[in-house]
Amino acid sequence: MPVALVTGASRGIGAAIAETLAMQGFDVAVGYGSDADGAARTAAAVSALGRRAVALKADVSDDVEAAELVAAAETELGPLDAVILNAGITRDGLFVRMSVEDWRAVIDTNLTGAFYVSRAAVRGMLRRRSGSIVAVSSIVGLTGNAGQANYAAAKAGMIGMVKSLAKEVGGRGIRVNAVAPGYVTTDMTADLSDEQRDQILASTPLGRLGTPADVADAVAFLCSDAATFVTGSVIRVDGGLGI
Ligand code: NAP
Repeated sequence: MPVALVTGASRGIGAAIAETLAMQGFDVAVGYGSDADGAARTAAAVSALGRRAVALKADVSDDVEAAELVAAAETELGPLDAVILNAGITRDGLFVRMSVEDWRAVIDTNLTGAFYVSRAAVRGMLRRRSGSIVAVSSIVGLTGNAGQANYAAAKAGMIGMVKSLAKEVGGRGIRVNAVAPGYVTTDMTADLSDEQRDQILASTPLGRLGTPADVADAVAFLCSDAATFVTGSVIRVDGGLGI
């Protein structure tokens, strides 16, 4: 059975990706940063679908922990067929007032963490000459967003990394893609004001916020045999917000 590692799978989009991949037949390593209960819930949902699951704690912004996460996933479940770079945080603030700590925290987790995890995973994929890596970027990595210079820079950086890696490893049968969600209803967007929410809805042709399942379906497509000629692509899952 194919095996996937999903980082940031204790809740939100990552939890939905883990469940959707399990529905597609993947055994799933559920990566998490601190929410052990959430990760256990996701693992239980994967198990309930008849697939093997393991919850693994690791701070993806630490290169040693990221490498240990990949090694533990492979020890527990077997060689990784798919890796989903989903762990992420926000530390929003206006650019001129943004602290170095807030800049670094977001770049270290969202971008450098994605580099650490995918670098550790791609080595085995190169040996096996197969694999799929999907980065969960964001529409703001394509459009920018006032108050999110750190986050938009990290998400744009992920897209540059994905396209470069796709060029390096395509000849070895490894595909590397990104999804760019718009606003999705999770803990990350729970603090939007009514005014912000109304503004977003007014600029979204499909007239609603996204669900974690909307994003998970696009990720599952990219990991599936339906996408064997798709690499270096960025699928926007944003209800048309970024048009
Ligand atoms: P969320 O509900 O806040 O969940 C974030 C996940 O990332 C949690 O599982 C968290 O683990 C994990 N995480 C955070 N820092 C970590 C670290 N240093 N090491 C390991 N894991 C870490 O967020 P979400 O909305 O589901 O977002 C998931 C991804 O989608 C993020 O990359 C986000 O930027 C992206 N995205 C979200 C939206 C949106 O509107 N929600 C839109 C576009 C893109 P613990 O809780 O266990 O610490």
